[in-house]
Amino acid sequence: MKYEPVIGLEVHIHLLTNSKIFCHCSTQFGAEGNTQVCPICLGLPGVLPVLNKKVVDCAIMLALATNSTINHKSIFARKNYFYPDLPKGYQISNSKSLFA
Ligand SMILES: [Zn+2]
Repeated sequence: MKYEPVIGLEVHIHLLTNSKIFCHCSTQFGAEGNTQVCPICLGLPGVLPVLNKKVVDCAIMLALATNSTINHKSIFARKNYFYPDLPKGYQISNSKSLFA
């Protein structure tokens, strides 16, 4: 066979955290629009995201539950590209997964 099919999956999950992944803003469902934002969410100049420890704990629990390999190092990158619904102009992505 000339080609080998390689299929990747991008899976999104919603973790039961009280705050967002990179700031302390609430994640309460049903809140009034634009009430759960801060300079970090908005990507204003001079702000830096801080990773929510609870998210890491949840990711580790998921890795253990799925018998996945947990990497000792995980790297996040700021990716700049245009999204019509992302006015700050960048997305923070995990460029080296916590687990494989
Ligand atoms: Zn925020």
